[in-house]
Amino acid sequence: MIKAILFDISGVLYIDRQPIAGAVELIKTLRQSSIPMRFVTNTSRSTSQSVFAELTRMGFDIKPEEVFTAPVAIKSLCQAKGYRPFCLIHPDLMPEFSDLDQSRPNAVIVTDAAELFNYQQLNQAFSLLMDGAVLLGIGRNRYFKSAGQLQLDAGPFIQALEYAADVKAQIIGKPDASFFQAAVSSLNVRPDEVLMIGDDVASDVVGAINAGLQACLVRTGKFLPQDEKEAKSANALIADSVVEAVNQAFDLEY
Ligand SMILES: [Mg+2]
Repeated sequence: MIKAILFDISGVLYIDRQPIAGAVELIKTLRQSSIPMRFVTNTSRSTSQSVFAELTRMGFDIKPEEVFTAPVAIKSLCQAKGYRPFCLIHPDLMPEFSDLDQSRPNAVIVTDAAELFNYQQLNQAFSLLMDGAVLLGIGRNRYFKSAGQLQLDAGPFIQALEYAADVKAQIIGKPDASFFQAAVSSLNVRPDEVLMIGDDVASDVVGAINAGLQACLVRTGKFLPQDEKEAKSANALIADSVVEAVNQAFDLEY
């Protein structure tokens, strides 16, 4: 029985700053029925505060504490372990880490840095890794979709640094099981009672199932037809949109 829902955000609730048809109303309905929700994202071009502000601006009835981003999880890890990070991240995300000591780095954080993925920055990260810094990555997403185009995400750059320095990154965002478990732990339900809805078959769907959750792939956002095979073999649901995903999940049960 499904008792709580994790929503991926981009490509599931909205695309290019426009809500998916019916998504705003769906969240409102779930809110009224007191289904616990978390909005989980590897997004690395904005802080959790701006993710919340953007969703609110689009009309989504959510609470700040329901937004669970990978950068926030990375920051918590840095604080727990005493990491002083070199941040190879998007300029818009810098405020999330501004209160961490970033002198004499003993860690390298890599998120989707966009234009800052230049030779000088990547080479500095490489040098720190060769000197023993730990590599913290946001996820292995290969690409995301924006303005109708697939665009390189952080995964390929993390893998390049791993290859160059012969190290293994610690991945903090989806599809890492600990990320899903951290999101679920605040819900007071068992992982198998949670449905994860996402448009990324590897990070959202297979990742969630590997962490013991149920999952549904939606045919919006970055979805490609060839993703269905992987979703089916992982025993995931498949739906045309987030609205249909929730309907399917609850129809199966009641
Ligand atoms: Mg997505």
